[in-house]
Amino acid sequence: MSFVSEFNSLPLDALVKKSIATGSVAAREALGKPNISLADFVMLISPAAGELLEIMGRRAHALTQQRFGKTIRLFAPLYLSNECVNNCSYCGFSRDNPILRVTLSIDEVLREAQELKSQGFRNILLVAGEHPKFVSNHYLRDCVAALHADWPGISLEVGPMETENYRPLVAAGADGLVVYQETYDRKVYADMHTAGPKRNFDWRLETPERAYAAGFRRLGIAPLYGLADWRYEALSVAAHADYLLRHCWKAAVTISLPRLRPCAGEFEPLTHISDRELAQLICAFRLMFPDVGIVLSTREEPRLRDGLLPLGVTMMSAGARTEPGGYTGAGREKIHHTERGVIKELAVGASEWAPQASRPTNATGQFNVGDERPPQEVAELIRRLGYEPVWKDWDAALTI
Ligand code: SF4
Repeated sequence: MSFVSEFNSLPLDALVKKSIATGSVAAREALGKPNISLADFVMLISPAAGELLEIMGRRAHALTQQRFGKTIRLFAPLYLSNECVNNCSYCGFSRDNPILRVTLSIDEVLREAQELKSQGFRNILLVAGEHPKFVSNHYLRDCVAALHADWPGISLEVGPMETENYRPLVAAGADGLVVYQETYDRKVYADMHTAGPKRNFDWRLETPERAYAAGFRRLGIAPLYGLADWRYEALSVAAHADYLLRHCWKAAVTISLPRLRPCAGEFEPLTHISDRELAQLICAFRLMFPDVGIVLSTREEPRLRDGLLPLGVTMMSAGARTEPGGYTGAGREKIHHTERGVIKELAVGASEWAPQASRPTNATGQFNVGDERPPQEVAELIRRLGYEPVWKDWDAALTI
């Protein structure tokens, strides 16, 4: 039985109502339990538990240090391509957005990776839009194979695939797969994904299981907060993580907490989760899942990232760029528009978007980042808070 069957049987609307109606006695009781079930998690994300944030924070902090030590694992995204066949209302890469697009060659990917390596990174997240013509399975395999020798941790955030198509990527050296469900609310999902293969909710929801069957040993999941009710999303992703821990037990599971950021297309969030609620949610995840990695990206502003760090975060990105070629300008001479899968070249000087020597990078980013501090500054901050920034946390040779 896949998670889809389990998910379909969850009374999510009733659980959200129960959470909102939770009283302070029930919230305190749940908080005092040594093992947190999904029923307890309902209480921990309640407004009543929000009043107990200080106690929750202390418990989450202690538990994180007990399980992970005083370390924060750093990683960087490397965008390979911003071509995409899907229309996702909230994403700058949507196929109907007239943005500047490019797919990096293998040499250009290596150039970008070399820059990240010189900044200290050894964990990399390869990101691409979903476009089989430009981002084929062979292309992805070749990217992974070219990076493998230098990068002990390679994760992918790309269009979902069949298990068979994932296997060559694992064989080439990729060990992690990140796939955000975006929203676990089926109605909102249908409204947000107006064209392309991504419209298939169940296919996406089963992706981590297919990736695990192919051999991926790090699985990252999340909703994108800002589309549906945050408690609905949190309960869903908690149930999803719980399922993966039971059924994909050889894999390390991570939960991210991305909130919508401004992007091309100027989509406005449909729902809101406050900074305080985000902090409460991190604590609730940590208390329910003592061993799950919690990821905080550069979507958030520096002050908030610094404040959330001690509550349960174990992984952070730093210095991130969300456009292909963002670190070195690689691929800038190839930028173009894409219409119905066909490249439309931009003549030099033909428009404000045409290639110019003075522009440091030309492709359009997926979204605006909130924390633009360079990686070394983030690492220094982590040290000042009493943690060790970890650029490379394991060696593939040790696991053979
Ligand atoms: S969210 Fe992903 S699939 Fe959707 S438009 Fe953006 S890159 Fe494409």
